[in-house]
Amino acid sequence: MFQSYRRYPNKRFLVYFALLGLLAACVPTETVRSPATRAAVKPTSVATILPPPETAVSHSTPTPIEEVIQNKRLDTAVSSPLNTRSPLSAPAAEEQLYYLPLDGEMNVDWLISNYVDQDWEAYQSSDYRQGNLTYDGHTGTDFLLRDLAKMEEGVAVLAARAGTVVELHDAANDAGNIDAETNFITIEHADGSKALYQHLQQGSTQVAVGDFVSVGQPIALIGNSGNSLNPHLHFEVRSANGRLIDIFNEGLTAFDYPYPDKPYVFQAGVTRLSDPALQNDMFRYTPNTLAVLPTTASPAFWFKAVNVQAQDRLHSVLVYPDGTEQALFTLQANQNQAVVSWYIYANPLPPGWYSVWYFFNDEVASSQSLSFQVVR
Ligand SMILES: [Zn+2]
Repeated sequence: MFQSYRRYPNKRFLVYFALLGLLAACVPTETVRSPATRAAVKPTSVATILPPPETAVSHSTPTPIEEVIQNKRLDTAVSSPLNTRSPLSAPAAEEQLYYLPLDGEMNVDWLISNYVDQDWEAYQSSDYRQGNLTYDGHTGTDFLLRDLAKMEEGVAVLAARAGTVVELHDAANDAGNIDAETNFITIEHADGSKALYQHLQQGSTQVAVGDFVSVGQPIALIGNSGNSLNPHLHFEVRSANGRLIDIFNEGLTAFDYPYPDKPYVFQAGVTRLSDPALQNDMFRYTPNTLAVLPTTASPAFWFKAVNVQAQDRLHSVLVYPDGTEQALFTLQANQNQAVVSWYIYANPLPPGWYSVWYFFNDEVASSQSLSFQVVR
């Protein structure tokens, strides 16, 4: 069992803090390519606000690294707000609902990094839960892939709702260029509403204009074409008259995606300081997650976290083989960030089993620790 934390009197190792940083803000911005004129209508539905989720975090004995690279907090967390329809609107008919527009495992292969901006004032933004998982003028939902390797593996874009393909482009490359054209598919549904699937991988579309697609049908692969910082799907819905629809705010989702009311660690690992991914954009290149390190290597502790708000305080603790604890770092976020990544490195360590814990505002930020072994 994992003990509760006290102070950290152990100063027997100096941990270098110098390389702390690499605050890789990942807000995939894009040029809005609307299928219809952007209607400056502020959505009027009332988001259903649930009380904060319980911090149902169970501790367990260290498990193999591979099992903990993905965040487990959301697995155990949270009754989803998406289960609850707004009492002010009639329930939508089944055929009007939207299913997940992509394949892959939720919160492992991808996560939602931005929702529709509900605040139409200039220079202000607010998502459907009055949170900061959006940016000013964002007109869709961004499903962010965990890295470039995942994109290259191929993650299918699925038709979220049945309809007819009315627009399609797939000649743009996946370099992610602010000035470049993007690849997209627009599907029109029976009621005249349209869904836009954007930033598709070059040459990956599997449908043609005029095709009828059924719900869940693969239509393309997620890419990084157009104005996209990192591989993601921008999914946007408009009514028949062009009004922007936030499927979360209007209770039109046929799937559960727990809104992250608190910051959480999405991925974390231990690697060698020499891992080249550390020097790159960690959202394109995920560092290694090693279960075993030699006594000669400087370990680097990395993580990616989601929904970090200004003033959130993050700290991390390394637990030595004899149970003593070493504070690795404490950070205070100075701005809201949908997704951030950090790493820090330490001196080479003596042999034995170690674990690493992450805390946001003194609460454990994921339900399991990282563990690794150092060997001669
Ligand atoms: Zn977007």
